[in-house]
Amino acid sequence: MGTHGKHPKFSNWWDPLFRGQIRLPMCLSCEHTIYPPRENCPLCLSDNLQWLINSNLATVLATTTLHHSFEPEFQRRLPLSLALLELETGPIVIANGLPALAPGDIVVADVVKETAGGFDVPVFRVFSLNRQSLHK
Ligand SMILES: [Zn+2]
Repeated sequence: MGTHGKHPKFSNWWDPLFRGQIRLPMCLSCEHTIYPPRENCPLCLSDNLQWLINSNLATVLATTTLHHSFEPEFQRRLPLSLALLELETGPIVIANGLPALAPGDIVVADVVKETAGGFDVPVFRVFSLNRQSLHK
């Protein structure tokens, strides 16, 4: 277990994330949700930000499956399903996916703590499909 190499200002981000809670700053001037977290809004440069808990619901934008990797850490996980997810508040994240995912699926995104290269890193993953909400 190593340290995160994280900036203490962003403990609002790391600590809840390692518990599976997606907490992100929202700009109070233009309502943009900022990901990854920064000290100023990338759209309007305001520093009037508020940390908010985000919904874990997300829409699948794209999927792919890795069959080859030069990294030993990934080689043992192949084939690895990946998904590009759009969180309800707008940020787009790369997540470990599920083989059956398709663009347009509504999913529950989760975050798990993994250790890679001696560092603890948050990894987004698709926790479950929420197919019911596709038909509302
Ligand atoms: Zn803004």
